[in-house]
Amino acid sequence: MSTVERLRQILLRIDGRGYKAYKDLAGRYDYSGFVLFIDHVQGDPFAAPTRARVRVPQRVAGFPPSLFATRPRAIALADYLARAVDRAIRRHVRGNRGTGKSGLMGIDAGGQEVLERTAVRVTPEYVEAVLVMGLPAAGRTVLGRQALEMLTGELPQVVAAGLFYRNLDRAAAERHVAVVEDQESLREQLPEHNLVAFLADGSLLPRESGVSERPLTQGRVVPLKSPETLRVTLLTPNRGAVTGLGIPEGVTLIVGGGYHGKSTLLRALERCVYPHIPGDGREYVVTIPSAVKIRAEDGRRVERVNISPFINNLPFGTSTTDFCTDDASGSTSQAANIMEALEVGAKLLLVDEDTSATNFMIRDARMQALVAKEKEPITPFLDKVRQLYTDLGVSTVLVMGGSGDYFDAANTVILMDEYRPRDVTAEAKRIASTYVSQRKEEGGAHFGQWSPRRPRPESFDPRRGRKAVKIDAHGVDTIVFGRTTIDLHHVEQLVDPSQTRAIGDALLYLAERYLDGQRTLAEVVAAVERDLDRHGLQVLAPFSRGVPDYARPRRFEIAAALNRLRTLRVA
Ligand code: ADP
Ligand code: MG
Repeated sequence: MSTVERLRQILLRIDGRGYKAYKDLAGRYDYSGFVLFIDHVQGDPFAAPTRARVRVPQRVAGFPPSLFATRPRAIALADYLARAVDRAIRRHVRGNRGTGKSGLMGIDAGGQEVLERTAVRVTPEYVEAVLVMGLPAAGRTVLGRQALEMLTGELPQVVAAGLFYRNLDRAAAERHVAVVEDQESLREQLPEHNLVAFLADGSLLPRESGVSERPLTQGRVVPLKSPETLRVTLLTPNRGAVTGLGIPEGVTLIVGGGYHGKSTLLRALERCVYPHIPGDGREYVVTIPSAVKIRAEDGRRVERVNISPFINNLPFGTSTTDFCTDDASGSTSQAANIMEALEVGAKLLLVDEDTSATNFMIRDARMQALVAKEKEPITPFLDKVRQLYTDLGVSTVLVMGGSGDYFDAANTVILMDEYRPRDVTAEAKRIASTYVSQRKEEGGAHFGQWSPRRPRPESFDPRRGRKAVKIDAHGVDTIVFGRTTIDLHHVEQLVDPSQTRAIGDALLYLAERYLDGQRTLAEVVAAVERDLDRHGLQVLAPFSRGVPDYARPRRFEIAAALNRLRTLRVA
């Protein structure tokens, strides 16, 4: 019996019955040209939708092996296909067919960034896409004929339009892959040129709005143009020579008047640890992969972090080598964020005055004169930023329009002038020696160290109610792990809800596999990273049925979630 016939029989048999009858659909269906696996059937029309995979053998799909021959290419092609399937769904799927999610079809296609994700897999044998579907119902009654139309009418059209090479825009697919490959090539070249970031001339950095990551197109957008003294030319495999602004290792200040594009530049650096899709405007902007945004985050919990390089002599003798709080202040949270980033290998800190604690950043001569050092627990970042580089090799890019005291500490000073970067390093140094700062340096001879921490496995309790494991991700910013909520609003380089979902499950994965009270937090996140490299994202899935929609998180964001788990205890 043909698959279509078998589906027809099941669906007509359960037509008009209660929704639970849909459970009979779980299983494998061979279409001509592809296979459908229905992995998980939803419990009712409002529940999380049904999860399925469509697998097309390469004999039918026909992708040239060169399009997925390397890891960056395979990730880029999979990303392109997820978007192509998404477009095909919009074109071929009617949508609403009854109550709740009835008739809906979807794929986890991603935003402006290109991330490794579970939505599409490309192998030499097949391409496979993970789809969600709302099986149609009126109230809780199965609409079998509607389901039949979805599965035998719409689905084959979606598969053919989205996953057959011959039906795709081949030039666009090739370009997508090439652009991502070029970005990864540029990123890899940064260290040999002693750079921490590169922004190609012509890049368009501003975004549509404060709540959108799409490029700004309205009004006049000023394309990036590098100042001659910081101009570098790098070679890419596809686009050839690319010229732009190279940000050197060391301490770089971004200065300039308000509204001249300083934060927009920094924001691009934050996001460009990931590749971007063609047309984003930032697709030839790259930052080293170990760049971490640092900001103040008052109210967060901190578990036994050594913040003593920045904070000492707190009231009541509170320890700062082993600092704990359920409610950090602006300055202590910013110090903890830096020390935690260093603990897991950050090599570039990205700091914006807009989101920093002022007393953490600066302390001028007059304040030093009024408030004795013994009465001020904070050693400002100003006195530490240089040591971070000389002692630890950790660079900083800092947006600072408000204090010229930083001129002494900077290796490079870039002035943003009506969205145009200018190299004003020499001028800033001249000013620094003409107007000698009256302030005293407070940083001591060395930066100091972070202390390794060994998380205790009992910190991680995924139970909720009658469920042994209950982990949910809500949007990009929230993970509910068991009965505790992890707030990631201020973890700004987390960019995709599917990364957040992966992190939620990664916490359980690492707690079960690696936490023994002996391994350090850095070792544990490194182990997870290694497993993801070797086995792919699906190792994180806590249940065997179906593959969740995951996108690859960086170790910094996994560590950030661990550090924000309010039940975390370290030995
Ligand atoms: P600053 O941090 O210097 O105060 P912002 O980076 O916040 O300034 O930018 C101010 C405004 O200018 C924002 O609305 C931003 O979208 C816009 N902007 C930034 N860069 C450009 C550009 N290259 N072309 C046009 N508008 C831009
Ligand atoms: Mg700003």
